[in-house]
Amino acid sequence: MILRSLFLAVISLLVLTACRTESPEEPVIEEPVAAAAETIESADDLGRAGVAAAHPLAVEAGLAVLERGGSAVDAAVAVQAMLGLVEPQSSSIGGGAFLLHYQADSGRVTAFDGRETAPAGATADMFLDPDGEPLGWFEAIIGGRSTGVPGVMPMLGAAHERYGRLEWDDLFNETIAAAEDGFSVPQRLARFAAGNRWPQADQPDTVALFTTAEGQIISAGETWANPAFAETLRAMAKGGPRTLLEPPISTRIIERTAALPLPGTLRQADFDAYRPGVGDALCRQVMAHRVCVPPPPSSGVALLQMLAILEQTDIAERGPEDPIAWLQFAEASRLMYADRDQFVADPAFVEIPIDGLLEPDYIAERAALIGDRAGDMPSAGSPPGFEFSSEDGFRATGTTHFVVVDAQGDVVSMTSSVESIFGSGRVVDGFFLNNQLTDFSFRPLMDGLPAANAVAPGKRPRSSMTPTLIFDADDRLVAALGSPGGSAILVYNAKTIVGLLAWGLPLQEAIDLPNLFAWRENFFGEVNRFPEDLLAGLAELGIEVRAGRGEESGLHGVFFHADGRLEGAADPRREGVWRVLGD
Ligand code: GLU
Repeated sequence: MILRSLFLAVISLLVLTACRTESPEEPVIEEPVAAAAETIESADDLGRAGVAAAHPLAVEAGLAVLERGGSAVDAAVAVQAMLGLVEPQSSSIGGGAFLLHYQADSGRVTAFDGRETAPAGATADMFLDPDGEPLGWFEAIIGGRSTGVPGVMPMLGAAHERYGRLEWDDLFNETIAAAEDGFSVPQRLARFAAGNRWPQADQPDTVALFTTAEGQIISAGETWANPAFAETLRAMAKGGPRTLLEPPISTRIIERTAALPLPGTLRQADFDAYRPGVGDALCRQVMAHRVCVPPPPSSGVALLQMLAILEQTDIAERGPEDPIAWLQFAEASRLMYADRDQFVADPAFVEIPIDGLLEPDYIAERAALIGDRAGDMPSAGSPPGFEFSSEDGFRATGTTHFVVVDAQGDVVSMTSSVESIFGSGRVVDGFFLNNQLTDFSFRPLMDGLPAANAVAPGKRPRSSMTPTLIFDADDRLVAALGSPGGSAILVYNAKTIVGLLAWGLPLQEAIDLPNLFAWRENFFGEVNRFPEDLLAGLAELGIEVRAGRGEESGLHGVFFHADGRLEGAADPRREGVWRVLGD
């Protein structure tokens, strides 16, 4: 409680900061939301079914489906559709996603992969300029070739086939109505639509979409409709999950991505070839729990590794007010990223040393590198059998996370992305096209070795998206959570899990903990949320925390009490809420 008041006090001091990092690859950072998001006091909001997502309208759409007897997957379809309307800066039906599904009856956890794929015409050098140098970050983003085959709706279709209870065409009503009748423009959407910082906002499609009949860009609180999106969703309700992958919409996507600048090569055959992935989640014992994440190309394995490294330290006993605990967190973060950047890519193209990365001796060896002060920049370790080179993973943020619990106790934990704010800034039929292919390594070769995450036809780019499920020693589900944040997703999730499992905090307090993202020689964090004496203590340990990352998290999750009560939580850094059915 003391902690909670402390953080609430810090949050109330939040100021808008414009932060730019020094990395040439790093785009400008999202500003924090000025007003604290609407949060729900968990004690009063315990129920049997509920939704936590980045906007109240998306939560309501999910609850409406649950109320009609829908499953967690049914509600997830509705939540995604609505987020594509009200939070288009962070996800799109033209984007990609990872979803973990928990079936209460059987205890089964299924991982769904809706990651975009590169077209057959993609080449390893397509993000290099004529001199063989990587293209500028924004230059690549707004190019037609940054768009991969959109996988999120086919993935939801695959999940619906297995776990849907309502008809597919019953899942879009709320969003169609809002897109037709209009809704109140959220503050964050208005801020991003106003541009200034992200070139996608200045692209002609984006400007056209967000310009009102009066010729002004939409502003917060005014009513805005997106009738083209309503029409697309009507087509999707009728035509099924592959509607975007089929003519006439696919034809319009192909035409739009074939336009200058940097025309892409998407063809109908690429759409026809797309298949969502369905398989086992990657689950490991860590911190006395079984933590489940999606397998690669998600970087979930790196989250497991970081938790396993931290388990070797005394972070649990130290608690969140001890600078040494945060030193340990930062050093584990740097060690994790060194390996993640080197070893994670599409497993259909590169053999990922998953077991090696999580092998106890190897974890102990890595954890032993954590000293009592910040060390030198760590390099990747050498788990066996890997002959590829490293690429950085320093990316930011057009992504969202939500969790749904249905009345049967089935759960969806899903992270969905259009990659950058408004994706590539190109619009077809009321939705944004993703720029997910810029998650590939721009350089095909590094140090003479092929980059594991190099572009290749039909390949999925490496992702940081890591929807997570956590089970206790009796294999009872205790938490479902996840976050956006580009590469920092891994530390946002890790921080929350450490708060929950190692420090025993309520989920909301774990989410509210300040974010710290340590990568290579950089220590970025929420300097406005860390207490000053903690920052001073870290400085004494060799860690100067710089503003620049942290505010773009969007952690949403649910904690499951042993007596069946649910305690959901939403990140105050966004506009999200947790609500239970019938509330
Ligand atoms: N495209 C990124 C990824 O898949 C996520 C970006 C974000 O979180 O905004 O790793």
